Amino acid sequence: MPSPNRVPGASAAGHFHIRASLSQKIPVFRGWQPPALRAPAPREDFRGSASSRGYDHRWTRLSLKYRRQHPFCEECERHGRDALADLVDHVIPLRKPFVGPRLEVGNLQSLCARCHSGIKAALEREAEATGQIAMLAVWVRFPEKRPVRLRAPKIG
Ligand SMILES: [Zn+2]
Repeated sequence: MPSPNRVPGASAAGHFHIRASLSQKIPVFRGWQPPALRAPAPREDFRGSASSRGYDHRWTRLSLKYRRQHPFCEECERHGRDALADLVDHVIPLRKPFVGPRLEVGNLQSLCARCHSGIKAALEREAEATGQIAMLAVWVRFPEKRPVRLRAPKIG
């Protein structure tokens, strides 16, 4: 017959450990901290939640449909390369100071991850720094109209 104080399934050694701790009046709860001392629960990115930034179910549906119709990276295609797209990009981004249309096919392009973080990010930086966000619509589709230093195909 097991002792009524014994945790079911605990080994004899574990049982002894618990009793030894209690006898010293120093409860041992490894890893436990009072709630106030715990690290705060990870919050959504400071930009706000994905849905508050416009990436809701309507966007998910549209972007999946767009990518089915445009499975290859459109920037790579402009430079004669074949690469499968990884995501659908808003040509005019969905952020201030100029917020592009969210669900208009004309504001979308399929991109591979390298073009998205490479040339597209560079074009956005240039457009924002020079106050020409609307020019992204031209720069993205016509590489020859980009600022000279951003004309060469840039990968990664
Ligand atoms: Zn690409």
